Amino acid sequence: MTEGLKLTSHLRDAVGGRTASALEKGFGYESVHDLLLHLPRRYSRRGDLTDLRSLRDGDHVTVLARISAIHTRPMRNRRGTLTEVVVTDGDSNLSLTFFRRPFGSKIKTGAVGLFAGKVSYFRGNPQLTHPECHMLDGDDLDPETAASYANEIIPVYPATGSLSSWAISKAIRIAIDQVDWDSQPDPIPADVRQRHGLLAMADAYRGVHRPNTIEESRAGELRIRWEEALALQTVLSVRRELYREQSAVSRNAVPDGLLASLDERLPFELTEGQRSVSDVIMYELSDEHPMHRLLQGEVGSGKTVVALRAMLAVVDAGGQAVLLAPTEVLAAQHARSIRTLLGPLAEQGLLGGSEHSTTVTLLTGSQSTAVRRQALLEIASGQAGIVIGTHALLEDKVTFADLGLVVIDEQHRFGVEQRAALTAKAGAGTRPHVLVMTATPIPRTVAITVFGDLDVSVLTELPAGRAAITTHVVPAVEKPGYMQRTWQRVREEVEAGRQVYVVCPRISSAGQAASDLDGLESVLDVLDAEQQAAPMANVEDVLAQLADGPLQGLRIDALHGRMSADDKDWAMRRFAAGPNASDGIDVLVSTTVIEVGVDVPNASVMVVMDADRFGVSQLHQLRGRVGRGGLPGLCLLVTSAEPGSPARDRLDAVAATNDGFELSKVDLLARREGDVLGSDQSGRTNSLRVLSLLRDESIIVAARDEADRIVAADPLLANHPALAVMATTITGPDAAQWLDRS
Ligand code: ADP
Ligand code: MG
Repeated sequence: MTEGLKLTSHLRDAVGGRTASALEKGFGYESVHDLLLHLPRRYSRRGDLTDLRSLRDGDHVTVLARISAIHTRPMRNRRGTLTEVVVTDGDSNLSLTFFRRPFGSKIKTGAVGLFAGKVSYFRGNPQLTHPECHMLDGDDLDPETAASYANEIIPVYPATGSLSSWAISKAIRIAIDQVDWDSQPDPIPADVRQRHGLLAMADAYRGVHRPNTIEESRAGELRIRWEEALALQTVLSVRRELYREQSAVSRNAVPDGLLASLDERLPFELTEGQRSVSDVIMYELSDEHPMHRLLQGEVGSGKTVVALRAMLAVVDAGGQAVLLAPTEVLAAQHARSIRTLLGPLAEQGLLGGSEHSTTVTLLTGSQSTAVRRQALLEIASGQAGIVIGTHALLEDKVTFADLGLVVIDEQHRFGVEQRAALTAKAGAGTRPHVLVMTATPIPRTVAITVFGDLDVSVLTELPAGRAAITTHVVPAVEKPGYMQRTWQRVREEVEAGRQVYVVCPRISSAGQAASDLDGLESVLDVLDAEQQAAPMANVEDVLAQLADGPLQGLRIDALHGRMSADDKDWAMRRFAAGPNASDGIDVLVSTTVIEVGVDVPNASVMVVMDADRFGVSQLHQLRGRVGRGGLPGLCLLVTSAEPGSPARDRLDAVAATNDGFELSKVDLLARREGDVLGSDQSGRTNSLRVLSLLRDESIIVAARDEADRIVAADPLLANHPALAVMATTITGPDAAQWLDRS
């Protein structure tokens, strides 16, 4: 055994090539540290002796029993002998098979011992193959020995087919023994350990992997989670610090510019929340360091006006602002609604335009070359004060005269690199201010972990005149009458002059999941493989069935991601135009392409088909499309999920509350931990190893404070080399990954 390994040493040097490659293959582990972070799933005691009758196939068990018979016979198809040892608890039997006979004279009929291994059934009888044996001396048990052996705590690890919990346990023990712990600097500073009662590193790993008591294992785990939380928060804290050091052009609001004119024109009063968030934003825009703010607000809380006011402040100060939207439908809609809000203020150079005004320019991938060239020119020349667009904005060809503010709507569709591509378009040496908007309610732990590099503002209150949304679950199978009633209700609503959304998880029955052309929709992400196999409501079939059946005579049309950008825009326009327009649409059958940002105040009912196929947060966002125009909203969640099933429970939760934050917790709970963070590009599942966003809130919050303290005093981490090393190996979970699954 070689002494003196480091945590960063390759596993091969600790546990040998074979085990190392099995660990790499099974879990992606390379270093000793990777392996030591493989925490037990649970602990069992040898003393949890198992009644032989209750042994279940596949269980790892330890039994205390007496040997009642030993048979040795040659193997049938191979050379060598097979030994079967039959043990009994006095009542029933268990057969232990050995392909060799390695054991000594202690194994004899009548002797008592402990036998541990994995249960399998052979011809209806339980057996352990090559179990671990520990024979106890004497004819019967010496009670003291039995007690101490039986009380030993055995860690049970997540295992793979080729690596049993036992093999992993052994590898970990070997690795722990070989690390030269005294030479390993502790990434958690001593004062932090002391303040939070955390074990030193070596004690923590020993405590977790070979505890004498359950308390030891808990203390070890606490410290190991802390370590990850601190490293992650340090990364984020350093990033915030770097942002603070970057320089930006300060954009001071002017008293009688476009912003003031907009405020005069607004058909409503800003809410208290809109006002105070705006104040914060204006203050940050006037700073010489870039703003990095996340504006979180329920669907319909009025984020767009807040963003528009910020954009105008920047335009007033001589800069340009860009709004990045996740889909063409949304970009077009933003351009429309912003032009409407601005009125003559957006008619620069046009007859009837206001004395001071600006140009709102739209840039999307599907524009004709001529339109596009014109748009690029307006952007490059600075004529366009407000630029709105999709991913097309990220291309190199797009250059700004003076980019002062980047607004990203519905952040979850964009990754960190995309944010970076856009912010790089500001002038040399400066950064634009950044405002990210999202309607997805984000639990606190996620906000400070996944979005930890942004400052967060929340719009909690909805603008006045917004009616509540009522949500009901419609059981399609048990209560077929409810389905009829649903379509009848849709009819009544249309007859009363309102409009209706019908949302389906798929576009067609042709097997492809509903997906936006931009490849951004991720319905499949929330589904299990087995659910995917079952047929799902799709836009094409539902449209045909409704048009020929219960909704005959109504003006009904489709919207989904496989339509061309023009067709999508056209469908949205006709739906937005409302029932009085000659070519208006009453009922829009669509995929989640309408999920974000779409605003048709006259739409009052939404029917979601196969609603159990959507995530909780997604449903919450979807239903925010109705009840916008002061009309009470109604959302009907159609499902075939059985009452009492987890899928049905999730829908009941959505129906039970309109509180998005409450639901975001349901969502976290509903998803398996590993799913929450997704897997990174290399396919390795989530980048957090031991930390749980659900369980570890208090650790994460405390670690954030400590990280800020450390970074404030030592921004380059010069005095915290071990923490710096850990921090560089941590890539925090990407926002895009987290939210794509919501
Ligand atoms: P979000 O983007 O947060 O979902 P929007 O900005 O699209 O919400 O606003 C939803 C609707 O509410 C829009 O029609 C908008 O004009 C309107 N609205 C925004 N602020 C107010 C307000 N303070 N009072 C009344 N209506 C408002
Ligand atoms: Mg919006």
